[in-house]
Amino acid sequence: MVSQTRRMMPPMEYVRLSDEAAGLDGVIAIHSTARGPAAGGCRLWTYADPADAMCDAFRLAEGMSYKNAMARLPLGGGKAVLRRPEGNFDRRALFEAFGRAVEKLDGRYVTAEDVGTGVSDMECVARHTRHVAGRTALPGLAGGDPSPWTALGVFEAMKAAVEFRYGSGLAGVTVAVLGVGNVGAGLARLLHDAGAKLVVADIDPLRCARLSEETGAKIATIDTIAAFEAEVFAPCALGGALDEATVSLLKGKVVCGAANNQLASPDMANLLVERGISYAPDYVVNAGGIINVAAEYLGESESEVRGRVMDIGPRTLEILEAASRDGLPPSVMADRMAEALMRPEQVLA
Ligand code: NAD
Repeated sequence: MVSQTRRMMPPMEYVRLSDEAAGLDGVIAIHSTARGPAAGGCRLWTYADPADAMCDAFRLAEGMSYKNAMARLPLGGGKAVLRRPEGNFDRRALFEAFGRAVEKLDGRYVTAEDVGTGVSDMECVARHTRHVAGRTALPGLAGGDPSPWTALGVFEAMKAAVEFRYGSGLAGVTVAVLGVGNVGAGLARLLHDAGAKLVVADIDPLRCARLSEETGAKIATIDTIAAFEAEVFAPCALGGALDEATVSLLKGKVVCGAANNQLASPDMANLLVERGISYAPDYVVNAGGIINVAAEYLGESESEVRGRVMDIGPRTLEILEAASRDGLPPSVMADRMAEALMRPEQVLA
């Protein structure tokens, strides 16, 4: 069975970032500008080897091209990866230097927060360039914390996937949520309001306890939650949750969650199909955050964000139906659709 369609990565445009005085050491990778400026967050992480940072930037930039195209955003895909300096460092100096580097690209790359960076960092970046989002929201305009939008998009996708596989709404359906941080907890609240039953697990027991008190959710451990009798499994913690052991344990017919890169390996897409489980592709369902970030950059309103996020449900259904019709894993079908949306004739349509 087909497990992967993404082509070998073409030589990618990139800019090495280096400013010793400011502690800046990293890379901006631009995968595609077919639909518009390459957009993707700025990650600050510890990398022993600069080559590892570069690989991560390339992989993440490619992922952003697919996510932005699938969300029909007028944006391409890019990513910045910065190596975290050892010991104490001047954060402000580092992000100001990064802002100057972004400005030099003259709008070909738009940055925002990612793992290891936050609003205050983006405010430093914004002193030197306007090609940045993820700042404090202005009244009436999009911006601010993207997590509630991500949670809403996953919720809409889950509704569509449950309707597709079970022919029912979410009321009375049990959803197992792995990871109840910003997005997972928001999703759990939406599910509770829709009448779903919840089981939750997190490495932080306090988060589970709080949510259980609020919603009546059952609490499982991170090792047992996949085996719980639940129609839906929602990975909302880190990537790689869908490995062979976990997929083999699942009892339900739907996987739909917020985490990025949920498939531990491309083969997991086939294993899910073999087990009769519909996997709602991660980058399709978790696009609410980038939709919000894009709207902030484009100066759009919250209602425009809501409209785009609500489209995630029908889009998920379209992918699941097409995958089932053509006998492909939904992740492969999604990649094909996204690639078509990056072709020049589609971009101009
Ligand atoms: P978060 O840090 O607020 O929450 C993550 C939660 O996962 C925390 O409660 C943490 O304790 C828990 N966790 C960490 N490791 C775990 C493990 N091994 N097992 C169980 N729980 C574990 O992050 P978030 O913003 O809620 O994002 C969740 C996921 O969704 C991430 O993969 C993120 O990349 C992805 N995502 C988030 C957004 C967004 O808008 N925040 C957008 C797109 C994708």
